[in-house]
Amino acid sequence: VFVSFEGGDGSGKSTQSRLLGEWLEQAFGREVVRTREPGGTQLGRTMRELVLHGEDVDPRTEVLLYLTDRAHHVASLVRPALERGAVVITDRYLDSSLAYQAGGRELDLARLRDMQLWAVDGLLPDVTILLDLDPALLPQRLSATGLAPDRLERSGEQFHRRTREAYLALAAAEPERWRVLDASAGIEEIAEQVRAAVAPLLDR
Ligand code: C5P
Repeated sequence: VFVSFEGGDGSGKSTQSRLLGEWLEQAFGREVVRTREPGGTQLGRTMRELVLHGEDVDPRTEVLLYLTDRAHHVASLVRPALERGAVVITDRYLDSSLAYQAGGRELDLARLRDMQLWAVDGLLPDVTILLDLDPALLPQRLSATGLAPDRLERSGEQFHRRTREAYLALAAAEPERWRVLDASAGIEEIAEQVRAAVAPLLDR
């Protein structure tokens, strides 16, 4: 079973992926592999450092950096884990590139989708959970984490608005794969909705 979490910065993806993973291990004894993009592998951590803290790059270069991370992540970690029957929970996957680089950076969506599908050899999640958050709430969310904002978190509010709209459009176009949850709700309430979205998949 392959689960991806998507959403803007500060929407609670890492908290919810941790809670889901703990529940799957404790209640079902499943092997759970929790991972993230960018940065789920050693190569990926180097890519993450480059893309988040390196020099400014143009949007096409940015696409290729994320794509390199993703192709290696899928081939070396995600597919092998799925093949041995683990549940893989990833914090971001290919929809991040469609939302951020097509939506936020306004690159061509159809072409980016083709590139993504090529890079992952067609592997799509069984369910994608969008933690939908109004970007106006972002500054307060980020200050609550106490982390210094990275380059993208400092991008303007319009960028984050386009990204959010792109996520919502992706979800509306493929409702059988996506669940859209209100990320401003309480942690436990969201966790419950996440469990409800994943539970029907567990006999796979
Ligand atoms: O969620 P995480 O902290 O791992 O994301 C790292 C940063 O990269 C975030 O600021 C996110 O907005 C950005 N990002 C992006 N395009 C992607 C994936 C992530 O701009 N395809």
